[in-house]
Amino acid sequence: MSDGALVLFSGGQDSATCLAWALARFERVETVGFDYRQRHRVELDVREKFLPELRALFPHWDARLGGDTRLDAGALAAIGNTAMIENVAIEMGENGLPNTFVPGRNILFLTLAAAVAYRRGLKHIVTGVCETDYSGYPDCRDDTIKAVQVALNLGMESRFVVHTPLMWIDKAQTWGMAMDLGGRALVDLINRGTHSCYIGDHETRHDWGYGCGACPACQLRADGWRRWLEGA
Ligand code: ZN
Repeated sequence: MSDGALVLFSGGQDSATCLAWALARFERVETVGFDYRQRHRVELDVREKFLPELRALFPHWDARLGGDTRLDAGALAAIGNTAMIENVAIEMGENGLPNTFVPGRNILFLTLAAAVAYRRGLKHIVTGVCETDYSGYPDCRDDTIKAVQVALNLGMESRFVVHTPLMWIDKAQTWGMAMDLGGRALVDLINRGTHSCYIGDHETRHDWGYGCGACPACQLRADGWRRWLEGA
């Protein structure tokens, strides 16, 4: 198994920052993305435009960046009943979780990513989950990720290391990390070239990027951008 890394790259701000983080550390980096019939399917188009732009802007990263694997995780849509997939209003459930929660999603994604990493001979798996200013998703928590890492290594007789560079930082600090990694060019690329909006609005332009401006993901992104500018 090589010292290479596989990045779970969704096309959002967090995973784009994680991709840059991995490219700054590992000689060989590949990406994986999942189609789970998400409402914000524009993410999938965005991620395919982002990669060549990243390569063009950062030739030293281009040399390290290998292939992209896109997997069908449509089983999540078949299970359904979440605002992330179906056209229903975003609201809080009785269990304290927003109905954008897709049960099992991150566990499934990490499992599929590890299977890809196993086949590709990549030791490191990088994911942008965060428990600082997240929506309370239990599968984004550090304890969950550590437990999944143990299960994957037991189940695949491997020594994967799951990295979560954003786990303990907020959205403003995530912009700061992008600035440290790739300067203003990377910040601008992530700003215009990634997608966070739950609704899938990639037409309305704001200073913090594209989105409806009203959904929880847009509000989080806008607030992080504003706080980063204030502190930068
Ligand atoms: Zn939105």
